[in-house]
Amino acid sequence: MSYESVIGLEVHVQLNTKTKVFCSCPLTFGEQPNTAVCPVCLGHPGTLPVLNKKALHKAIQAGLALHSEVNLFSQFDRKNYFYPDLPKGYQITQNTYPIVTGGHVSMHLGDGTSKEIKIHHMHLEEDAGKLTHNEHEDFSRVDLNRAGTPLLEIVSEPDIRTSEEAYFYLRELRTIMRYIDVSDVNLEEGSLRCDANVSVRKVGETKLGTKVEVKNLNSFNGIRKAIDYEIERQIGVLESGGTIEQETRLFDASKNITAGMRSKGGAADYRYVPDPDLPPIYVTEDLIAELKKTLPEHPYTRRMRYHETLDLPMQDCIVVTDDQDIADYFEATLAQTEQEAKKVTNWVLTEVMSRINEHKLSVAEFSQKIPPAHTGEMLTLVKKGVISGKIAKELFDDMLESGKTASVLVEQKGLKQVSDSGELEKIIDKIIEENPNQVEQFKSGKDKLFGFFVGQLMKATNGQANPELANEILREKLK
Ligand code: ADP
Ligand code: ZN
Ligand code: MG
Repeated sequence: MSYESVIGLEVHVQLNTKTKVFCSCPLTFGEQPNTAVCPVCLGHPGTLPVLNKKALHKAIQAGLALHSEVNLFSQFDRKNYFYPDLPKGYQITQNTYPIVTGGHVSMHLGDGTSKEIKIHHMHLEEDAGKLTHNEHEDFSRVDLNRAGTPLLEIVSEPDIRTSEEAYFYLRELRTIMRYIDVSDVNLEEGSLRCDANVSVRKVGETKLGTKVEVKNLNSFNGIRKAIDYEIERQIGVLESGGTIEQETRLFDASKNITAGMRSKGGAADYRYVPDPDLPPIYVTEDLIAELKKTLPEHPYTRRMRYHETLDLPMQDCIVVTDDQDIADYFEATLAQTEQEAKKVTNWVLTEVMSRINEHKLSVAEFSQKIPPAHTGEMLTLVKKGVISGKIAKELFDDMLESGKTASVLVEQKGLKQVSDSGELEKIIDKIIEENPNQVEQFKSGKDKLFGFFVGQLMKATNGQANPELANEILREKLK
């Protein structure tokens, strides 16, 4: 009997505001514990929360980017539970009236096909603090620097079918949130956290199976593995005649398994109640229109534009638009070169990216050293056959170091490619004369020796022989 898996993701994105969501403490990462706190985020009695306008704006921008409905009325609720990292005894969140409802994420999968995942809603909430339990201590430590950090929870419909789709959905969300500058979406720093709801059902069944919620997913790979493990586990349980219990399980990344944590409580357990300390949020159409204007071209739109107007393979379009700054660099380079788009994406994705990574530069820092115009000019030289692709790579390092343009360096260093057939013929004649044995062997069928002659020629010209022309002449002369 074959099964189908059904997955819905609850993604927490940490908004990149300067200050916390209900007080003016700064957002920090890696600071000394309990240094970015105040009476409000410590939950002292008598204090009052005030909503950070920027956090609200970012939530609205995220809603617009996911084609959602931004609600003109929304409100905060208290979600009551006791936990040492939650000093107030409740979390401020949105339960009944979230800021955003509906929407969808269009994403591309590994094979270049696209799929749409519907969004149920998105709501604003505050993060809790962080507990650490050290094995050698008989107490736990709490750091409240993170308490009150603004989170946007993005809840998908159960439209995801495989761990691969879950992976690409998260990648797409990350790209979108970075494009609109709503979150840094850094898994390592915990600014994207994800819970996966997983169920299985027999193929053809229309009712959803009982879901299990998997928590503690903090890497893209971990998410894939946890989902795959959970699908297999559930099928195993059903196949052996058992039933799936609705529960919350934790993923153990060191063993790649999920283990039961608690049976999941219902919403009633949290005693959700509208927070009397915070007035309802009224959003105006004007504000929505204003925020809409701030949004850049959507990554999906940009990707499709490249695919349709530049005749680039989908895979290239996906990779080059993954980061907005890289996409900008690519487009600016393309606008200033005679080289074709495919060659420009290749160059940006390999040569530019590797140097950015190697020298630990931001795209902006790299652009100061080699502006798109310089890269464009250099690629034109390759296109025109003035320099070879091999020389271009060395030249690019020189450009990075010196800040000079390709044409200046080519002139200074005498790097011009030898494209004069008369000159190449002379050199080739000499090589043939000096290597009679190899010529003999080549002519009697040892084809591999062609590489030997190319090597000799490149040696004689410092790698500057125009490769196509050189091949042509060599073939002719060795007939
Ligand atoms: P809960 O009330 O337990 O939080 P929700 O209905 O709010 O459950 O859904 C939470 C998440 O679980 C959503 O992302 C939703 O798409 C997903 N989900 C709901 N039912 C299923 C199911 N049967 N299988 C997989 N995912 C599901
Ligand atoms: Zn504070
Ligand atoms: Mg829910």
